[in-house]
Amino acid sequence: GTAQIGVTGLAVMGRNLARNFARNGFTVAVHNRTASKTRALVDEFGDEGTFVAAESAAEFVAALERPRRLVIMVKAGEPTDAVIEEFAPLLEEGDVIIDGGNAHFADTRRRERELRERGIHFVGVGISGGEEGALHGPSIMPGGSAESYESLGPLLERIAAKAPDGAPCVAHIGPDGAGHFVKMVHNGIEYADMQLIAEAYHLLRSVAGYSPAKIAETFRSWNTGRLDSYLIEITAEVLAHTDEATGKPFVDIVTDQAEQKGTGRWTVQIALDLGVPVSGIAEAVFARSLSGHAALREASRTLPGPTAAPLGEADAARFADQVEQALYASKIVSYTQGFHQIQAGSEEYGWNIDLGSVAAIWRAGCIIRAAFLDRIRGAFDTQPDLPSLLSDKQFAEEIGAAQDDWRAVVAAAVHQGVPTPGFGAALAYYDALRAERLPAALTQGQRDFFGAHTYRRTDREGSFHTLWGGDRSEVSTS
Ligand code: NDP
Repeated sequence: GTAQIGVTGLAVMGRNLARNFARNGFTVAVHNRTASKTRALVDEFGDEGTFVAAESAAEFVAALERPRRLVIMVKAGEPTDAVIEEFAPLLEEGDVIIDGGNAHFADTRRRERELRERGIHFVGVGISGGEEGALHGPSIMPGGSAESYESLGPLLERIAAKAPDGAPCVAHIGPDGAGHFVKMVHNGIEYADMQLIAEAYHLLRSVAGYSPAKIAETFRSWNTGRLDSYLIEITAEVLAHTDEATGKPFVDIVTDQAEQKGTGRWTVQIALDLGVPVSGIAEAVFARSLSGHAALREASRTLPGPTAAPLGEADAARFADQVEQALYASKIVSYTQGFHQIQAGSEEYGWNIDLGSVAAIWRAGCIIRAAFLDRIRGAFDTQPDLPSLLSDKQFAEEIGAAQDDWRAVVAAAVHQGVPTPGFGAALAYYDALRAERLPAALTQGQRDFFGAHTYRRTDREGSFHTLWGGDRSEVSTS
């Protein structure tokens, strides 16, 4: 075969990825279960580059140069296993299967192990940027053997988004499931970013009394500063949009029930297993599920609320500036939590993930792309052992400078009855980390009282138990 790469699964993502490879000068073999989609791709876009259309699995495999590199872009879950089973028997030692779908990293670990035993490299690749990104340059997070990345990396570097400094947004994340794990946390952070933006909008609307058009203007101006990011940019677009049918602001005619496909939920589930406090991401996932409980919300509409009056015009502009501070500070916390989870996953699974390079490849192409990621990259690059993003001097100073306004915004939200679980959880995380002493000592006392679970002392080594039911003397249990 002559094709340097093959793509099977030609729905929006696979089709655009195949076109991206072809536009970058690679010969691309294309295949889809339903062959009409393969023909449609070549009919429509054949002049963009060199495609080799394959009707059967055997034809597809035969079209590829060796070692073969074939990308699977099908629905995640069972379809991915079915497609692997269809192709693996046709492959030879050293060939590389690349799964570009949104697989759960645990599935990727299993598939990598099974295929490694058969002499086939399996690379689980997280791809972010939606269909536009797939076509014009996504952020790419590959996990797999270092050897497979040698053969695959140069191709991925060509099709990846380019950061402002020209660096391609792709890096070998680590073995087996590391790439899909990092993509999962990317999506969790995306949920948190979106929730924080939604809370800022809600406050500007309900407390400052701004119209959607005025809020669009506000976001547009924020986008020229430290919040400069894709999600802030599209927020302004959505808020400025008017519904054609009714002439009303678009946000006022959309049903206020947020849906989700599951990667945010996975992030929180795994964080619970790893014991990592990703409270901002968890609140974002819960906020979406709460919004979807229509009957519960309907039944609760008559619950009493506060009587506080909204702000006057004079105070509204000042409040809007404070919301910017709260949004930025909460965003720093979300990223702190997300990177903590990546660090914890890396340790648990022995991936040795370089956090600076993760921040670097999120600078362009992906949904959470933001100017601020370049500074996160800098923080981790210059201090690889940084215990937390909040330990970086610059971020610590910024969040410190924002905290008074941040507290004022959370207090105003509470007074006015506007739910801001994202801002609130981020602030609680910040204050908990700062605390000299946490009430966890009391929790330990309670656990020892009812379950003899023991505790450690601040002044001596070892574990201890107090005889709560007896004379309350202390015994050493270690
Ligand atoms: P879909 O997830 O809608 O999957 C459709 C494709 O899967 C079609 O090519 C379909 O073939 C194929 N397929 C489904 N079941 C089987 C099966 N049992 N055997 C063989 N082929 C099968 O397509 P998308 O392009 O939206 O997404 C592809 C992958 O990329 C998914 O894993 C998705 O999660 C991930 N992803 C999507 C993003 C997005 O923005 N949409 C962003 C990043 C990742 P047929 O035409 O024959 O039905």
